[in-house]
Amino acid sequence: MIEKESVKLHELTFDLFIDKKEIKKRVQEMAEQINQDYAGRQVVVLGVLDGVFMVLSDLLKKLDISVSLEMVKLKSYQGENSTGKVHKLLGLNSNLKDLDVLVVEDIIDTGTTLGFLLDLLKTHQPKSIKIATLLLKKEIYHGRYPLDYIGFSIPNRFVVGYGMDYDGLGRQLPHIYAVQGQLQKA
Ligand code: 5GP
Ligand code: MG
Repeated sequence: MIEKESVKLHELTFDLFIDKKEIKKRVQEMAEQINQDYAGRQVVVLGVLDGVFMVLSDLLKKLDISVSLEMVKLKSYQGENSTGKVHKLLGLNSNLKDLDVLVVEDIIDTGTTLGFLLDLLKTHQPKSIKIATLLLKKEIYHGRYPLDYIGFSIPNRFVVGYGMDYDGLGRQLPHIYAVQGQLQKA
């Protein structure tokens, strides 16, 4: 199942969109940039669960700076659509005051989740906040926050695989797949 050109999850079919070799190469490039930018510093990498687990794992293995890891769990999607509301399922425990924080996301779509997280983060008064995302839907991102590291800018299509799911399924796929046919509803 995991190496196919297309996959069926629930009632939808998804076609191969970004191959695992391309993902690997791009994650390596992002890591090199992060290593350069944070050279000699310590950074708190803040992963946004669930979808981020695969890219986070691959990215962390390429970082040669001093890193500590934090996770938050946020949810804004139901099926293939954003609900416009963000739920915090698991919050921040550590004190981030005066620390350099690098937020890592699997995908930024409208930017609602990111905005919610940044509001939460700012109450911790970190020294700096940067944002890395593997995927960005640039046509629908509200653009309110500058993004520091972007893996791929993609059109407005619903994607799965490499950590990302469709109603719970597809997270284990090593490639990224996009839903066949229709554009994602806004
Ligand atoms: P936003 O709040 O920016 O609209 O959406 C961000 C979150 O929605 C992502 O972290 C992810 O959990 C989910 N999401 C957005 N677009 C997609 C997509 O195309 N596929 C999947 N599987 N999740 C998505
Ligand atoms: Mg996410």
